[in-house]
Amino acid sequence: MARAHDVLIDVQDLHKVFITEEVETHALSNVHLRIHKGEYIAIAGPSGCGKSTLLSILGLLDSPSEGNYNLNQYSVGDLSASQRARIRNREVGFIFQSFNLIGDLTVYENVELPLMYQKMPKAERRERVRNALEKVSMAHRMKHYPSQLSGGQQQRVAVARAIVTEPSIVLADEPTGNLDSANGDIVMEMLTDLHKHGSTICMVTHDPRYAKHAQYTVHLFDGRIVDDETTMPDKPSVVRKPIPERPMVIN
Ligand code: ADP
Ligand code: MG
Repeated sequence: MARAHDVLIDVQDLHKVFITEEVETHALSNVHLRIHKGEYIAIAGPSGCGKSTLLSILGLLDSPSEGNYNLNQYSVGDLSASQRARIRNREVGFIFQSFNLIGDLTVYENVELPLMYQKMPKAERRERVRNALEKVSMAHRMKHYPSQLSGGQQQRVAVARAIVTEPSIVLADEPTGNLDSANGDIVMEMLTDLHKHGSTICMVTHDPRYAKHAQYTVHLFDGRIVDDETTMPDKPSVVRKPIPERPMVIN
């Protein structure tokens, strides 16, 4: 049974409004989510429904307009910019659709970078980077630059970069979106494997085939959660209805 201290992500009544000169876009409204350690969640929905906005907020790359967000006991809204950066580095591994590797760093240096920010000693970094690259079968390409790799290989390096810090959660935004189906399948198998070994994963996808890898699928439409599905009906839903007061409900 999941306990309160197993809660990794707790989002209450989240709203995100983008205001530009001409329009106000309500990208997220009334989002309640609770993700426990070790869960694998998919977020699905049509283009423009707010999936990336939600994932960016969960990954501390963006802030909500309203609502509470607790990540591994940290109340994110109360943190300074530098605290947020530090917690993002330690707690979150992010995988982007477009890989986002740094072009003038080698594979090794790309994966080492998050550990450099942690000021981890060199010998320990070397060990961690090797292990992460071995997990994604890219250790033989350590000295290559991203431009010398295929898309599938670049995404595998990006997975290594996301897991090298041993984050509390891996967030993946359409990680197969720029890959052919064979390479997409490889990346999805890697995420499934990470989950089997204990990682918590939240993945955005518009491919129902891939959503099936997850234990829960949360469906977004126009910035709202409209439905959720699970392959684990005996567990409580990750979608939370408004919770009037703390402390949180023990499941
Ligand atoms: P999805 O990832 O589901 O395709 P997004 O989260 O990227 O959707 O976008 C949700 C909505 O918010 C869209 O209408 C989009 O145009 C808008 N949006 C996203 N980012 C910004 C931004 N930085 N400024 C203004 N509007 C934005
Ligand atoms: Mg998106």
